[in-house]
Amino acid sequence: MSEIRKIAGKEPVSQDDILKELFKDAPASESWQVTLPSKGRFYTNFRGASVSPLTYQDEERILNSKGQGTELINLLVEACVTGVTMSEVVPMDKLFLLMKIREISYGSEYKFSVGCPSCNTEIKTSLDLGSHFIVNEVPEDLTDPREVVLPKLGVTAKVRFPRTQDESYLSDSKVLISNLYRFIESLGKYSDPLIISKAVNRMHIQDIKKIIKEVHKDEYGIDPRFMFECPSCKHSTMMSVPLGADFFSVS
Ligand SMILES: [Zn+2]
Repeated sequence: MSEIRKIAGKEPVSQDDILKELFKDAPASESWQVTLPSKGRFYTNFRGASVSPLTYQDEERILNSKGQGTELINLLVEACVTGVTMSEVVPMDKLFLLMKIREISYGSEYKFSVGCPSCNTEIKTSLDLGSHFIVNEVPEDLTDPREVVLPKLGVTAKVRFPRTQDESYLSDSKVLISNLYRFIESLGKYSDPLIISKAVNRMHIQDIKKIIKEVHKDEYGIDPRFMFECPSCKHSTMMSVPLGADFFSVS
């Protein structure tokens, strides 16, 4: 009788305990603290960002959804990144985060193919996401918005970075030009969007280019270019690694 009581009084083995035992040697679910290209400087209450791997459920839900391009990227970032508010993210950080999600979820080898612009041969190649790219972080004095003097008009424009909700205005250069006024907070002493929009239409090309350069600031973040030499025809040229949603569609 006392034997039975002893057994019954033993610690119950719950399903949680069984799973704990089963996974005791498996690596803990990783999470990487990352240093964003923007260093989070343009975000409210920023205290650091971290990236965790895509779960199988996320992969099913997101990659099999009808989402494409920026929509897909936003879903991925939302599922795997903590510490940043989606609506505030600037493009340089988004691309960086996407690359980190790809790396922590599937490993650092990224296989892709490029077409030789000279002989059209499709070349399969790969690179290491963890070491290939140089990430240029913004300098201490870069602000958002920031002031630039337009060389032709001679006035100061206050220009800002695009955020998540502005992504549709960046789809191509024509769309960007007609929406450029949205990224100009003021022009001289004027901040009325209607005046700014009309002024943009009359601006010299040098002023337009100066503003576009300031909106993109593509010297910061990841530089996707690499020197390509075609093994077939020996043509060599500067090319860009296909980034963005391509990261996940090829897996
Ligand atoms: Zn070639």
